[in-house]
Amino acid sequence: MSDEEVRTHSAVHVVKGAAQKVLGSKWTASVHASGSHGRLTVQYDRRPTDQELASIEQEANRKVSEGAEVLEFEMERQEAEGHFGDAMYDLFPVPGEVTLLKIVRIPDWNINCCNERHVDNTAEIGRIRLGKPRFRNSKRELEIEFDLEA
Ligand SMILES: [Zn+2]
Repeated sequence: MSDEEVRTHSAVHVVKGAAQKVLGSKWTASVHASGSHGRLTVQYDRRPTDQELASIEQEANRKVSEGAEVLEFEMERQEAEGHFGDAMYDLFPVPGEVTLLKIVRIPDWNINCCNERHVDNTAEIGRIRLGKPRFRNSKRELEIEFDLEA
């Protein structure tokens, strides 16, 4: 994973937190980061309005400007589930035999069980620009795309 992709991947967590805040979407079906382009797919029941998208972008960039700490730590699975419940999971399951979880947390924003590398501080991410989202009605999935500005 290049440094750029570490930033892009970290931005996925920031955008996810913003989408949860604005839309109330909870479950993420997939995340993807390639170069400065990122994408996350969340379960949602309709196409968001332009206003909502603008809010997601604004909230995400606010979190970047804040320079929030990105915390990474390991926790026993049972203990983590007791603390954070299923909020830390995505739709793709963590295999049952995994007993020690790597967790990434942006306080008051996003908590996720995640094995990837992350920046230490959201300020390192830079400006996030959302692209046009795709909504698949049949699967109730909303694909949110974004690019990091160089
Ligand atoms: Zn991650």
